[in-house]
Amino acid sequence: MHHRFDTAPIVASDGLAGPADEPIVAHASPAPGDEWRSPLMQDALERFSAAADALALDDELRMRLAAPRRSLAVNFPLRMDDGSYRSFAGYRVQHTLAMGPTKGGFRYAPDVSLGECAALAMWMTWKCALMRLPYGGAKGGVRCDPGTLSPSERERLTRRYAVELLPLIGADRDIPAPDLGTGEREMGWFMDSYSQHVGRSVPGIVTGKPLVLGGTATRRTATGVGVVHVIAGLLERLGSDVAGSRFVVQGFGEVGATAADRLHALGGRLLAVGDEHGATAAPDGLDVPALARFVRDGGRLADFPGGRPIAADELMSVPCDVLVPAATARQITAENVERVDCRFVVEAANGPTTPAAERALGERGVVVVPDILANAGGVTVSYFEWLESQQGAHWEDAELASRLQRRMRTALETVAAVVEQREVDWRTAAMIVAVGRVAEASRARGVYP
Ligand code: NAD
Repeated sequence: MHHRFDTAPIVASDGLAGPADEPIVAHASPAPGDEWRSPLMQDALERFSAAADALALDDELRMRLAAPRRSLAVNFPLRMDDGSYRSFAGYRVQHTLAMGPTKGGFRYAPDVSLGECAALAMWMTWKCALMRLPYGGAKGGVRCDPGTLSPSERERLTRRYAVELLPLIGADRDIPAPDLGTGEREMGWFMDSYSQHVGRSVPGIVTGKPLVLGGTATRRTATGVGVVHVIAGLLERLGSDVAGSRFVVQGFGEVGATAADRLHALGGRLLAVGDEHGATAAPDGLDVPALARFVRDGGRLADFPGGRPIAADELMSVPCDVLVPAATARQITAENVERVDCRFVVEAANGPTTPAAERALGERGVVVVPDILANAGGVTVSYFEWLESQQGAHWEDAELASRLQRRMRTALETVAAVVEQREVDWRTAAMIVAVGRVAEASRARGVYP
């Protein structure tokens, strides 16, 4: 039986529209209600549906896994520095409680919505299951333009958001972490606010904390390093190597810059790197450490003297072996996929390839290594940090690094085996493993009462 969550296309008039040729579609049963509707949720459901079909999941399990288990939407006032008050919308979605506590970041961005959080929470469930971390997925955020907030407004926003989440969170219930627009500083404030409310210090309430509060130095680079473990393992399987291979990276933030730096250190040639403002290219490979210094000193990628400036939307069409989207969601779409010229897309960002674009890439033999595998290094090291916090233990960086490498390689090999056995693409294989594990746990727990 083939299940699809979409019925008749509907025209979105609420700013949620995706690319013109990929209309948002209404969900039919057993999909969740319209309150979680978003382009990203549509992608998430489509992918879940494909895995559920491959696993021949029954309707009861589909219904349980398609809908987010718990959602909280809040509006709260914030006193701004000029004495005025503004209202902010915040969210937290927990996708499944079947696997243990829930885990996932919270972001500060202008387009945060319940539907976006629901999709990203579901994504986190599959990612944790694939990495065998004892968590369900969660995601949250506050809709705001973080660039316009002063440090003190940001602090009050974070402290208030933490308290708004009190009914849902806890070190053994739901553990937030950094995401877009949030980082160590916010995690420190969040941990302090939670601890003040419960009357004791609870370092395990968040991961991605400052080092001095029990964070790890490894967390900052973990996602980018994990991406490179996956790329290296993938190329090795094909008898190839990072050294001498050609790479293009979109996004030069925490993940993109780390991945570019490690690939360069392993002898890879970084042909182009870009962000939303522009890109820089060099046919013999960019000097990535010099580029990182240039950007750290306030330079824009396109102005880097060691490269040739190219337009941001030209980046995706630079021919290479491995394209690494490490910026944001829905970057490779039906509109630009024809110009993408690579052998592999390794998804460092969450949801950078739309389902329609992925189908077009598949027809051309381009392998897409999915986000739930490629960028799982971050949550994996977050899990190590949480274990340390819960146990009052401390592991050396080298120990964390080798544990990370083992987990990434194991997950890669598990997915590769399913690709070969079932002759499916990498995303379907990763989802078969992940959804299969969560379905098995949900089945074992049964339905209460
Ligand atoms: P970041 O904010 O540090 O960097 C994002 C980079 O992308 C910046 O260089 C920014 O200029 C660029 N960018 C933003 N919008 C863009 C656009 N429309 N076009 C081109 N470039 C754009 O964020 P990050 O932590 O590096 O995360 C990058 C991606 O990886 C996100 O999708 C995030 O959800 C995902 N991710 C991050 C982690 C982590 O540990 N940081 C873990 C898993 C997934």
